Amino acid sequence: MMQGVERRRRVTVRTPERAGEYEIEVEAGALARVGERVRAVVGPYSRRAVVISNERVWGLYGARLSESLRLGGFEVYRWLMGEGERHKTLRTAERALEFLCEARFERSDVIIGFGGGVVGDLAGFVAALYLRGLAFVQVPTTLLAQIDASVGGKTGVNMRAGKNLVGAFYQPRAVIIDPETLRTLPQRELTAGWCEAIKHGAVGDRRLFDATRALLMSGEPLGETELLADLIAAHCAFKANIVAGDEREEMTRTDHLSRRILNFGHTIGHALEAATDYRRFRHGEAVGYGMLAAGEISARLGLLDRGELDELRAAIKLAGRLPRAKDLDFERILQALRLDKKSFGGSIKWVLLERIGRARIVDGQEVDRSLLEAALQAALK
Ligand code: NAD
Repeated sequence: MMQGVERRRRVTVRTPERAGEYEIEVEAGALARVGERVRAVVGPYSRRAVVISNERVWGLYGARLSESLRLGGFEVYRWLMGEGERHKTLRTAERALEFLCEARFERSDVIIGFGGGVVGDLAGFVAALYLRGLAFVQVPTTLLAQIDASVGGKTGVNMRAGKNLVGAFYQPRAVIIDPETLRTLPQRELTAGWCEAIKHGAVGDRRLFDATRALLMSGEPLGETELLADLIAAHCAFKANIVAGDEREEMTRTDHLSRRILNFGHTIGHALEAATDYRRFRHGEAVGYGMLAAGEISARLGLLDRGELDELRAAIKLAGRLPRAKDLDFERILQALRLDKKSFGGSIKWVLLERIGRARIVDGQEVDRSLLEAALQAALK
């Protein structure tokens, strides 16, 4: 079923920043080995580990993680933040930093980000700032964080004017992924993660697309422990490879391997989120619709074969049920797209598909209003 995807469980990420590399490790049951792994990357003199997490994740897995860290010889501290995007703020980061200062954490200590992308982004940001950079390890626990947010070194917080506007590129010393933690993830979070997984395959790797779809078709992707671990590792390798060419997101490349291709489905996805005041969709769900619309545009421009569009549609359906969207007001979506356009210096760059596995970046003017309307109508029904 997983033909073509290597049985790779360790993904090495090269980073120009520390002129070195770090490893992403994926293994069912890895939580029990976090202490040992963290010890291996921070060395024998590190005394204290602070886990940044939230109540939910800590309540589910905190005992297991701290036991493992204690076995690794660490004194364990925890700092819990509120749940959800609205807590990914400078104020939360400041409170975490005050905690670290008051507890007198030292240069040799280590910060562990333990949760979804919200926790990971915030914990990484705090790690980048405290004492101008403390060792940081990611232990992501959502599908989206395991295949996407924990790879690439982007950390940060939201501002009133927009998401992720303030942050730092800061690479972790290690990323440790235990796919078993996904068993407690709500279905909508899984759906959002699977949409992003489908996106990876669609823009850059046909075999990854096929492998993701095959696992979803099994009907119980989380039950296929080994295949799931393989697949997560393959997604990490895919993302690491893309970001390696453009680590600081300078977007100097415009070819099919530009980091920009990861924005497939995001132009319309963001507009759908904005048009519903960020209340209706999980980000990945909106990206699901965004991919459908971008696929429609690709087909209507004659870039993408209809058969491949059908495959994309079928894969997104397998990801799970998306919240209803057919009632959305087209004008509001357009308005949100125009706002998006402003923030990108006046020109939308569309990420479209030539085929599954290969994206193409197209200038905004090639997509006119009537094309957009038709594509949205087809995608949101
Ligand atoms: P999230 O962090 O909000 O987690 C989703 C929900 O799942 C939360 O309620 C969380 O408490 C809960 N949860 C986490 N793990 C769980 C588990 N194992 N069992 C049960 N519940 C669990 O959402 P997310 O989708 O993981 O991350 C979204 C964030 O990631 C956004 O802030 C986005 O900006 C960021 N992001 C960052 C990057 C990057 O490159 N740094 C990339 C993509 C997204």
